[in-house]
Amino acid sequence: MGRTLSILGSTGSIGRQTLEVAEAGGHKVAALTFGHNVKLAEEQARRFRPRLVATPDEGLAADLKVRLEDTDIRVLGGEEGLVEAASIPEADTAVAAIVGVAGLKPTLAAIDAGKRLALANKETLVCAGELVTARAKARGVDIVPVDSEHSAIFQCLQGAKHKEIRRLIVTASGGPFYGMDRKALSLVTKTDALKHPTWQMGQKITIDSATLMNKGLEVIEAMRLFGVPAERIDVAVHREGVVHSLVEFADGAVLAQLGSPDMRLPIQYALTWPDRTEGIAKPFNLFSCPPLTFRRPDIETFRCLALALRCAKTGGTSTAVLNGANEAAVGLFLEEKIGFLDIPRLVEGALERVKTVHDPSLDDIFEADRAARQAVLELTR
Ligand code: NDP
Ligand code: MG
Repeated sequence: MGRTLSILGSTGSIGRQTLEVAEAGGHKVAALTFGHNVKLAEEQARRFRPRLVATPDEGLAADLKVRLEDTDIRVLGGEEGLVEAASIPEADTAVAAIVGVAGLKPTLAAIDAGKRLALANKETLVCAGELVTARAKARGVDIVPVDSEHSAIFQCLQGAKHKEIRRLIVTASGGPFYGMDRKALSLVTKTDALKHPTWQMGQKITIDSATLMNKGLEVIEAMRLFGVPAERIDVAVHREGVVHSLVEFADGAVLAQLGSPDMRLPIQYALTWPDRTEGIAKPFNLFSCPPLTFRRPDIETFRCLALALRCAKTGGTSTAVLNGANEAAVGLFLEEKIGFLDIPRLVEGALERVKTVHDPSLDDIFEADRAARQAVLELTR
């Protein structure tokens, strides 16, 4: 069945691949949102003819309005524009592919409007997972993960009962700095960190993959999506990128999902679930597959993962502080204002400074995010 999509973050890596999947699969596009890339937003709007394009930036909205003057496509600026795109009545599915906590409000708006949520934006679940999943449950909204590991787990869980899950095993590529010690890590540059061995992704998640924060965020994401405590989620470094994650069941059976590393498969599955259709993802050849290896991650060296695992157990606003501090620190690293090992140092510093609030409201979460960013700024002065 063809779906009608609102793609939040259409100009990003996931957003662009979603449009490829939509085009190949005959899905319609009702709304698009973008951050800064007005030129690509214009191209996408002309090609996919959504009813609405939105961006948080009023100036860029005015620019796009002029560019699209010859069409009947509406253009909106500001946060309300994103919320309107997320809840546009014509769409039955929202693809949450904005990066960072900036995606939280539009994601909640999509849930409130009763859309299926194809969720890539993991930061939303890290910051406000309990709130988001509770709201989705109350509204009867399905959250279908796009993140490859979570899609793998979700696929393995089809037809299973929650009480049958013994353990989730989230695989990790190990990133470009696998096997390095802290001395070597202190010397790596932004260019080194942006060279991911397996995936082509946006800059922020690529840095998170290099620090292993991405895997920490994913453990928290898995905890929230599947209702399994952190103690029963393992991380396995799997360099070959073939096994996308596994589930161990009560009887000892372990199911895994395998495939080529191609995000278009989990994106497509999030749209077609519970069905499967022909797709454009790269086919997988078992006979050209390298020997598969699995190792425990080195959390002494890659401190971000250790910090995230600690927050997964603490809960409350600690995960929002972790995320906010990490977003701020990664931003500074991408501006080449801090070194690679400053990222875990600053996140740890923010976690020490900002008090955890348990059972947080949405306001508590935004306040934790703000305080974490403030702490990072103070610690870098
Ligand atoms: P990109 O950086 O490539 O894209 C991010 C998108 O969000 C772009 O459309 C960008 O607009 C938009 N955006 C950025 N900042 C804002 C803002 N403040 N307000 C509104 N829109 C904004 O990221 P990815 O596509 O790689 O990742 C998106 C999400 O998916 C992340 O949460 C990531 O962790 C997750 N994910 C990504 C995977 C991947 O393979 N890329 C895999 C698994 C999860 P513009 O470009 O116009 O500025
Ligand atoms: Mg992932």
